[in-house]
Amino acid sequence: MTIVDATVISGRLTALRERISRIGGERVQIIGVTKTHDVELVRAAMAAGITEIGENYAQETVAKLTGLDARPTVHFIGQLQRNKVRKLVGLVDVWQTIDRIELGAEIAKRDPGARVMVQVDISGEDAKGGCLPADTGRLVDDLRGAGLDVIGLMGVGLLAEAAEARPGFRLLRSLVDELGLVECSMGMSGDLDIAVEEGSTMVRVGTGLFGHRQH
Ligand SMILES: *Cc1c(COP(=O)(O)O)cnc(C)c1O
Repeated sequence: MTIVDATVISGRLTALRERISRIGGERVQIIGVTKTHDVELVRAAMAAGITEIGENYAQETVAKLTGLDARPTVHFIGQLQRNKVRKLVGLVDVWQTIDRIELGAEIAKRDPGARVMVQVDISGEDAKGGCLPADTGRLVDDLRGAGLDVIGLMGVGLLAEAAEARPGFRLLRSLVDELGLVECSMGMSGDLDIAVEEGSTMVRVGTGLFGHRQH
């Protein structure tokens, strides 16, 4: 039921890369968010040159990616419960949404030395998850203490109006710098230009590459 094929995705990817470089983004990774799309779309994305994908739901990730012979690098970007970690080990390469030490400890136990990112609440909307900006440094230290490879921070901007996301993005970037981290995962289809202006190193793009989701 995949509507977009590799040619369509490839065209959008090229346009997206040009758009990012026009804004002045250097070294910005594009993560293709494939949640709710089927495995055929993942194959088409890879054929189009996408090497990193993002998934949000544990059950769906397992069902979709288990047994796929050639896998892209998989970023888990959805809210994660501790009891879902075990079945995702081996399928997830970067755990982007760690916002509490209990979750980090579980990952450290099941996937020692894994690459993780701390999700920070930059929108003030509790429902999206994320630790408080003031608690971020402490969590980074604790995750490192548990043997995890903390590569950066991740945040979801205020979605109402793209321009309103800017202060949150600026805050996330300043925390990345303050903590001496490398990766700053921020920006989605609707607000990626602002995120890149503010120093994103990873944009997570679903709709902009693959079209609207069915559900
Ligand atoms: C769904 C999702 C995206 C992609 O959203 P689009 O608006 O389709 O680009 C990015 N980040 C997170 C955390 C998401 O849940």
